[in-house]
Amino acid sequence: MASIVLVTGGSGLVGKAIEYVIATEPIGSRFGKKQGENWIFAKSSEADLRDAEQTRLLYEKYKPTHVIHLAAVVGGVYKNMKANSAFLRSNILINENILYHAHTHHVQKVISCLSTCVFPDKVEYPLDETKIHLGLPHPSNFGYSHSKRLVDIQNRAYREEFGCNFTSAIPTSVFGPNDNYDLEDAHVIPALIHRCYLAKKNNAPFVVAGTGKPLRQFIYSRDLAKLFIWMLREYDDVEPVILSVSEDEEITVKQVADAIVKAMEFKCTYTFDTSRPEGQFRKPASNKKLLSLIGEFEFTPFEIALKQSVDWFLENYDNARI
Ligand code: NDP
Repeated sequence: MASIVLVTGGSGLVGKAIEYVIATEPIGSRFGKKQGENWIFAKSSEADLRDAEQTRLLYEKYKPTHVIHLAAVVGGVYKNMKANSAFLRSNILINENILYHAHTHHVQKVISCLSTCVFPDKVEYPLDETKIHLGLPHPSNFGYSHSKRLVDIQNRAYREEFGCNFTSAIPTSVFGPNDNYDLEDAHVIPALIHRCYLAKKNNAPFVVAGTGKPLRQFIYSRDLAKLFIWMLREYDDVEPVILSVSEDEEITVKQVADAIVKAMEFKCTYTFDTSRPEGQFRKPASNKKLLSLIGEFEFTPFEIALKQSVDWFLENYDNARI
């Protein structure tokens, strides 16, 4: 049967990765395009999803049968700390409009994207899907976190009252081609890629914000894209699924910086600016539920994924979000 998959946030890091996978995986394969499937990748210039009428018109235009909802105001720890109210308001509006109109337009399935920021700051590790609402999130990004937590509540309410097939995915930190490379507002990997690039180009110091000690669990955007496609086709429960590599694969910010220096062939040493805040120290998340459901899945090794990401940045510097 023909299906129309609308990807909101289609111009972002994760949206572009899904577009890449759909374009490059063999047609009819597990992660490839299926016969009769039409994929739409929407960007904000087409509809500002904070606006209910623009969102309604987007649904009227494409009449999606399925929605992968990625659109969000997103940023690294510094951007979040500066703008908790803006993150909260924009994301609440976007999520409310997308889910309400998915319901009124009888969309068969919506997968929304949460983040491991939704989890409580003080909680027993590893994080798993049952722990989202057990305590307050980290104060650095409480606006973003609460807006994302609310999606889980909305999904349950729409399912209970109207039988909507709404669910959510919880990726750990994502990186890959088409990221946001803003020096201040970006996430750690793209910000460090950009800083290292400038240091190499200008023969200037490469300074890593913070101590380099915090740990993160990174997932390559193209691996994540496959997992979203799997969820779209094979997962029908309201309970969220953490989409991540295993919790044993946490790495420090220093290890990230070392891998970037290597991939960029930057010959100098670098320093840490320990006066800068660095968010949560660690938040390891379990991918046991994912692995138990998906079976075989091969994650791209971190160094290979990072090299591909750095190469993409170098090749696309003039058009990248910097
Ligand atoms: P990006 O910042 O790369 O992209 C954000 C996307 O949202 C863009 O396509 C942007 O459109 C769109 N968008 C933002 N505001 C609006 C708006 N008002 N109306 C319509 N579209 C809008 O984000 P990512 O790809 O990194 O994130 C995708 C999802 O993954 C998000 O929900 C995020 O919360 C989640 N996530 C991301 C993580 C990460 O490390 N990056 C980690 C965990 C979760 P445009 O560019 O056209 O303005």
